[in-house]
Amino acid sequence: MKAEILCVGTEILLGDIVNTNASYISKRLAALGVEVYNHTVVGDNPNRLKSALKIAFDRADTVIMTGGLGPTYDDLTKETVAEYFNLEMFEDEKSLNEITAYFKRTGREMTENNRKQALFPQGAVIFPNENGTAPGFAVQKDGKTAVLLPGPPIEMMPMFKNSVEPYFLSMTDETLVSQNIHIFGMGESTVETKLRPLMLESTNPTIAPYAKRGEVRLRVTAKAHDYNSAHSLCEPMVQKICDMLGDVVYGVDIDSLQNAVVHALKENKLHLASAESCTGGMISSRITDISGASSVFSCGVCAYSNEIKEKVLGVSHDTLDKFGAVSDKTALEMARGVRKISGAQIGISTTGVAGPDTDEGKPVGLVYVGIDSPWYSDVLELHLSRGRRDERDDIRYMASSHALNLVLNAIKKYKGIN
Ligand code: ATP
Ligand code: MG
Repeated sequence: MKAEILCVGTEILLGDIVNTNASYISKRLAALGVEVYNHTVVGDNPNRLKSALKIAFDRADTVIMTGGLGPTYDDLTKETVAEYFNLEMFEDEKSLNEITAYFKRTGREMTENNRKQALFPQGAVIFPNENGTAPGFAVQKDGKTAVLLPGPPIEMMPMFKNSVEPYFLSMTDETLVSQNIHIFGMGESTVETKLRPLMLESTNPTIAPYAKRGEVRLRVTAKAHDYNSAHSLCEPMVQKICDMLGDVVYGVDIDSLQNAVVHALKENKLHLASAESCTGGMISSRITDISGASSVFSCGVCAYSNEIKEKVLGVSHDTLDKFGAVSDKTALEMARGVRKISGAQIGISTTGVAGPDTDEGKPVGLVYVGIDSPWYSDVLELHLSRGRRDERDDIRYMASSHALNLVLNAIKKYKGIN
């Protein structure tokens, strides 16, 4: 199946709205293993829509359209598709009843042109609209499939999930299963270089890399007639990739570093506490985003000033005087301090220069991440600047990711000795 997404709306061409429908549909189709070759946007104009539809069907067998399904004179997608396929329209009684009921329920008056929304080309498979009036539908002719969906994302997204995906799956007798391998500490190009031969030779399962905020995700997707067969095609490939990449893999299907940390802390009945300077609470925020964090996260101290580093965390005055707040010694004493006041087994800390100004004569992007526990203490020196403007947030986020990854390493060491 080769698909094209064709969004209808002059507002998109004028830049008044962003084409989030295309992005959403593309993502969902990728997960289904459907290849999307083109995105097209066309204004609310019947002739241009007709020619865009023709171009789309010249290069794809499935065209998914959004917008222009409404009741007004400029909503013409449906009529154009019926004309393209040379199909008569019929009034669907069930849809008409649902539209009437929707108006009653929402206390609005139904006008005659709303009846138009119950008209469909002959042979259409109708998709109900739970959040609006215009139903969507799919229609097939001569091996070509057109799927028409309403423009408002709030109506389109649930319709796609609840009706369009099952419709596509019913067209094949195959099931897709994906597993995601999460990687931190190795760049996308290095991962790709290592796996390139494997990626090229693998067709089922396929391996696709995605990079996001300092992390790489590899999606392994297999196709088979049933879930178990597809899953057992994925498993050995996932194992092979994990063995090839080693320690940089922090989890499979675990979603995020913070999720992996909370999970690992729970599994090993350990507690964590954080002392943050340059990350200003980002570590505790990411950890507490995860439900169930309360059973493993003791406290987070946001110690921005030297005074608080000293008074609350017990960093020695000498250390701050001699080495400065941004130093390996301070980072370690912060981690040790927060561990002491919280009683947690693991203390993690950050201190650094997030920019844009340098501090203590130290460069932007220099960050120390400290960790302290009865079995493992360490400090990482990071240089996170990429020389870009406005990178303050990236530096802080990357520092918090390194900190979370260091916690995972500490837990691995704990598991190794227990
Ligand atoms: P309606 O019944 O509301 O007229 P419709 O199916 O006719 O719905 P449009 O009139 O084309 O759809 O668009 C309605 C609204 O939906 C737009 O004003 C916009 O807010 C949103 N919308 C339309 N297309 C997109 C898109 N591609 N991406 C994001 N939002 C969109
Ligand atoms: Mg409209």
